[in-house]
Amino acid sequence: MTQYTSNVLNLELIRFLVEQDTAILTPPVMGKVADIELWYAKERGELESRTVDVEEAFTRASARRSRFWGDLREIAACSPGCISFTSQDVPCPRDAVINYVDVQTLRIMYESVSPGHAPGGHQQQSKAEQPKMTLLVDRLLEALNSTAAQTPNQQTLARLEQVLAEKPASYVLGRERAQKLTHHSSFIPICGHRNHSQVLSSLCTISNNKIAALDGNKLQNADQGCPGIAKCAQSKIHYIPISKPQTDSSLGDCSYLDTCHKMNSCRYVHYLQYVPESLVNNAAHRNQEKNQQSKLNQAICLYTRGFRCAGATAPQLPAQWIQCDVRKFDFTVLGKFSVVVADPAWNIRMNLPYGTCNDSELSNLPLDILQNEGIIFLWVTGRAIEVGKESLQKWGYEVCNEISWIKTNQLGRTIVTGRTGHWLNHSKEHLLAGIKGSPQWLNKQSDVDLIVSASRETSRKPDELYGMIERLVGPHARKLEIFGRDHNTRPGWFTIGNQINGENICEIDVKFKYRNSLRRRKSQRPIPHPTTV
Ligand code: SAH
Repeated sequence: MTQYTSNVLNLELIRFLVEQDTAILTPPVMGKVADIELWYAKERGELESRTVDVEEAFTRASARRSRFWGDLREIAACSPGCISFTSQDVPCPRDAVINYVDVQTLRIMYESVSPGHAPGGHQQQSKAEQPKMTLLVDRLLEALNSTAAQTPNQQTLARLEQVLAEKPASYVLGRERAQKLTHHSSFIPICGHRNHSQVLSSLCTISNNKIAALDGNKLQNADQGCPGIAKCAQSKIHYIPISKPQTDSSLGDCSYLDTCHKMNSCRYVHYLQYVPESLVNNAAHRNQEKNQQSKLNQAICLYTRGFRCAGATAPQLPAQWIQCDVRKFDFTVLGKFSVVVADPAWNIRMNLPYGTCNDSELSNLPLDILQNEGIIFLWVTGRAIEVGKESLQKWGYEVCNEISWIKTNQLGRTIVTGRTGHWLNHSKEHLLAGIKGSPQWLNKQSDVDLIVSASRETSRKPDELYGMIERLVGPHARKLEIFGRDHNTRPGWFTIGNQINGENICEIDVKFKYRNSLRRRKSQRPIPHPTTV
């Protein structure tokens, strides 16, 4: 073991870092070196009284700060990685931040210089003093087996049942944390009044398929004929019917509304959304405040399931992606993931804007190697539900849930004429969930098995799924999406698919293995016949 000497190390500072490690990395200090130095100086009684000459106080403070920065850097240099800073510059930059403190290593350093005195209650406890650690279930069994409990009375049984029915603290904390971290987007209600849209359509100007302006004076006048419309127009979303030369309003609404592929010739009624800018701005302002708070909550070093305790210090990985044909891709380069999402291009015998794979190509993908334990989500179409379930079993998963996505249209209503469906029109899609092993780290029961949200471009799946998964496994867990497109890439996720542009790999080991796999593939290509060159 490395031997440290006390002339190099400021033991008092090590003790301070070990004892206050959580407090210095979380709000309001957030690792700011300038604040930590002041705190440390105050603890040591080194702060000047107000009567001292200002210039002299300034000189003393600068000297104190540079001593502190020097001591911190000495400690960090003794065991690289035990403290990490945002800067190594001398003198200490004003915005320098400590983003990680390895308490265990610091304790070992302290112990090495001053044996038996390491901070943080690391001193040897005698066996008799150590509390006996037992699992709740063992304690219950012990209680049941004891003579007193062999003939348990009603009261004891009722108490036992009550204890067993209680949700463990891990669930409660996990849900609370999920609520506090979830990204907010304010809900703007949709007007349900029958006449409002018609009245508003006569008051607004449409240009370039957008509502350019709504005449405020005319709106006030309209309020006399249709009381409440002025207030409603300022507080709710309205869908304004667009009248084009080909529109025949007697035909009613187009089933596809804003996702209609023949917008320029369709004779059915289409709509444009009207939301006053002030309403959008207010909602954005409210969201910003809430999301600011959830960012601060993220820095709290509290361990809950699905969330590592170093969450505050370990940044989420940036978005990563690789364009590839999954049938030829070497999946071993990717490593292991906590969660996998796949939206296979099933052959659904329909015109699609991309190529598809047949069932055996899909079930032969080596998806069994991506997780030792964890959860997988597989989108399936009506026909592929059974093939999907069989494939999951083949890859070592047990189908544990089926999530439904209920699709809504532009007007916020359930879709009645989906683009797929043989006997009945499809207005929902299925997402199978499979479990491998016994992943105790999943933050269970934070969501329901239903997503209700608008359908968008062909095959595009709802973004709500990402929030759901991040609440389940935590933001720092490695997450893989197979058959993703550009709009699917996001921080914390690795996305692969043949419509993605180029590649972006930040994890060095993955980059290295991927490059090697490409090299291997190139070298295995058959040498072209001389006559064809
Ligand atoms: N979930 C996506 C939609 C996926 S559609 C979303 O939310 O937008 C299926 C995707 O798989 C398409 O982009 C298609 O081009 C891609 N794909 C089809 N065959 C593929 C193959 N052999 N390898 C990789 N991607 C493939």
